[in-house]
Amino acid sequence: MPKNKKTIRAKNTKANSGGFNTTFPYPAKIRCSVATQSDAKKPQVRFVTEDEVAQVQEIPKTFKGEPGETTLVASGLVAGLGALGKLDSDSFGDYVAATLAKAATHFEEYQIIFSRQILEKVGLRSALRLAVVAEANAEYPTDFLKASDNKKKIKIKKTEIVVPDALAKIAEEIINAARIEARHIAAMRQVQALPGNYLTPQTMDERTAAVAREFKVARKVFGLKELTQMGAGGILAVSQGSVREPKLIVLESKHAQAKKTLTFVGKGVTFDTGGISLKPGADMHEMKFDMSGSAMALSAFAAIVELKLPINAVCAVAMVENMPSGSAFKPGDVYEALGGKTVEVQNTDAEGRLILSDTLTYVQKNYRSDLVIDMATLTGACVVALGDFYAGLFTNNPSARALLEKAALESHEPVWALPVGRRYRELLKSDIADINNIGGRYGGASTAAEFLHSFIDDGQMWAHLDIAGVGMIKKPFSVYTASGSGYGVRLLCEVARQLSANA
Ligand SMILES: [Zn+2]
Repeated sequence: MPKNKKTIRAKNTKANSGGFNTTFPYPAKIRCSVATQSDAKKPQVRFVTEDEVAQVQEIPKTFKGEPGETTLVASGLVAGLGALGKLDSDSFGDYVAATLAKAATHFEEYQIIFSRQILEKVGLRSALRLAVVAEANAEYPTDFLKASDNKKKIKIKKTEIVVPDALAKIAEEIINAARIEARHIAAMRQVQALPGNYLTPQTMDERTAAVAREFKVARKVFGLKELTQMGAGGILAVSQGSVREPKLIVLESKHAQAKKTLTFVGKGVTFDTGGISLKPGADMHEMKFDMSGSAMALSAFAAIVELKLPINAVCAVAMVENMPSGSAFKPGDVYEALGGKTVEVQNTDAEGRLILSDTLTYVQKNYRSDLVIDMATLTGACVVALGDFYAGLFTNNPSARALLEKAALESHEPVWALPVGRRYRELLKSDIADINNIGGRYGGASTAAEFLHSFIDDGQMWAHLDIAGVGMIKKPFSVYTASGSGYGVRLLCEVARQLSANA
């Protein structure tokens, strides 16, 4: 039981109650700012390449500046980035994140120093954005359910990134935006880290209410009664085995200068047992992360609003729990999806697509979107294909693919395109309904995406991101932390920037 009962309600001992309420603190603004070389002070975390080692006098002779090598010195910490020639944004992310995680437990206040040649090699914008996210992740650990004496000792109170005086103005702009994105990444990681008894459809409802209040955006919530009236058969089928009421939650933000509308749809299975098609017991606890798509959608939406990007944004998240019980849906059941299409459920563990397809139908009926992106920890098959390192990208439109791939490069949030299309649609044929919810053993990430594609109206530009791998990772890489990674907020902010710039 957490000691701090002011911030976390103790009600989670009751199986059927939410664990946290809106007093669960939304991550505060990240305290990382710009300093110039003329106001340099100690302690410092200084990054050096192998060829810069000789220039720093206090470094011990044994320190070579190899990638990942660190040493404590009188002025603070020195960290190696390897040979300048081999340094790129990818390796920069790895080493900076690991070093700043270390620094956060050593110092309360410090300056982060990169030489001009490091900034030039990695690119000023890339380097600063990655450093801010790495710093924010180090500052915001997710062991908040531990009693305070068991927590990781994070000392950090304030950090500054030192840049050459001439770059101060541009650096400040980059860092201010990165700090907002980092704050919402922390919010996403917080929601991801909450176990299934804390993060429920009800508590996610409370979290979205807090977001709507803070950022003054419109919000609609559809509970059991409204979903039944609406005919959201997929959301109802998946949730019918659980005692927790399903929720379809929609947030909407309008910008006065907007010419385009960007819509996010997120999968929010707050716990996925697999239902009657029960998952194996080993690692089932990881299925608390099956709401990562909804956390990504909500956090990216909030970041876009806080950044005041000139675009209209919609965020729709379907929140359910997938449980086996006497009232659960069964393999072989047929239900009518929102919009009237009938779906045969041959596997109750392929449930994400059932709640997403209803939500995709809902947003297409109610909003004219220039681009709809859904995001979900959807298939193990995507993890088999790509490992933890990329989100699978599926789309019905080459310019959506180009836009997302460009945004991925720019934001350093990797995507890899995989196919959808009619050949996969054939694998989803059902003898008794309009479509089957599974498509056989092979190409599972593509058949899942094609299932969603079958709910997309002609002419609607759509993309699907399967984050089953990268949303929840085993080992840290780039600036991602192990476990709930916070993947996707930067990517979607970049998509919003590009889409609004193309207007
Ligand atoms: Zn499942």
